[in-house]
Amino acid sequence: MSCRKDGAKNWDQQAIAFSLETGKYHNMGINRRDFIKQLAGIGGIALFAKDVNVWAGEQTTTLRDSLGVLVDTTLCVGCRSCEKACNQINQELPRKTPQSFNDNSVFDKKRRMAADSYTVVNRYNNPGNSGNPVYVKFQCMHCADPACVSACIVGALTKESNGAVKYDPWKCIGCRYCMTACPFQVPAYEYNNATTPQVRKCTFCFEKRTSKGKAPACVQACPMEVMTFGKKRELIKIAKKRIEKYPDRYIPHLYGEHELGGTSWLYLSSLPFEKIDFPKFGYISTPSYTEPIQHAIFKHFIPPLTLFAVLGGFMWFLRQRKTESKSVLNEEGQEK
Ligand code: SF4
Ligand code: SF4
Ligand code: SF4
Repeated sequence: MSCRKDGAKNWDQQAIAFSLETGKYHNMGINRRDFIKQLAGIGGIALFAKDVNVWAGEQTTTLRDSLGVLVDTTLCVGCRSCEKACNQINQELPRKTPQSFNDNSVFDKKRRMAADSYTVVNRYNNPGNSGNPVYVKFQCMHCADPACVSACIVGALTKESNGAVKYDPWKCIGCRYCMTACPFQVPAYEYNNATTPQVRKCTFCFEKRTSKGKAPACVQACPMEVMTFGKKRELIKIAKKRIEKYPDRYIPHLYGEHELGGTSWLYLSSLPFEKIDFPKFGYISTPSYTEPIQHAIFKHFIPPLTLFAVLGGFMWFLRQRKTESKSVLNEEGQEK
């Protein structure tokens, strides 16, 4: 496996740009902090209102100003450096040895995020080039209008102004409603922790990095520069230029630009997204459906248990639709 190590150490300090001429990234020669400042200066960082319905049209004015990450899956070589970096920066995760991330047998089955892994890389067959499989890193998508935040009745999950969706274990009561609500099946639960179990999910490295304008640890660690960190509005432009310039390399779809009202993590792919386990969704966020129900119920003082029953039924309905979309992220152990 060829992993380009050069340049990775500069990732945090230097802004990287993708050259349409060469098809590769180049150091822009400016300080990353300045780069982020410049991007932020274009339109400022958006503040998110939980009760705003997130329609694709509204995204153009506010939600695209938050930070995000563009993942170009065509560049990933499956080295798992991102998984290792995530494990190292998140001290609350069980410690794994560096060697455990060299084990490529993990690609023999599909993995999902777990209580000990905020991010996982999976391998997919490439029908057009069987000797060159496609690797895809996955983690919390940090939705613009997150269903997990909407579902949490104690405010343990919050959407931050930079785009991150954060989790506060001190507020969490362990109802796991966020796990049911998440359309990407991201939050995991510490079932093995009998005394103080918590919900686990990627935090966008909010506390240690992104709140300070630094790229997430997984982004910084990637030797292939698969991921680009910056303002979502700029990332969308970069992605669309790549699709335009290399129509044979990418399918003409930027996943996360519109799905469910948009996500902070955006994906480019050479394979149709359903082939790499990305569920097919419409443009309207899940809370746009559920919050009017919640508000109506509270307005008429329907007891909380009834609220759970009604919303549980609605989430079951969404899950059925999700199953129909042939997402196999939850079918662990089944190679495509
Ligand atoms: S992907 Fe799931 S856990 Fe992450 S922000 Fe969206 S709804 Fe929440
Ligand atoms: S953003 Fe941070 S917490 Fe999320 S997958 Fe990357 S390293 Fe892990
Ligand atoms: S995203 Fe980067 S660090 Fe992660 S497996 Fe792919 S090439 Fe390696």
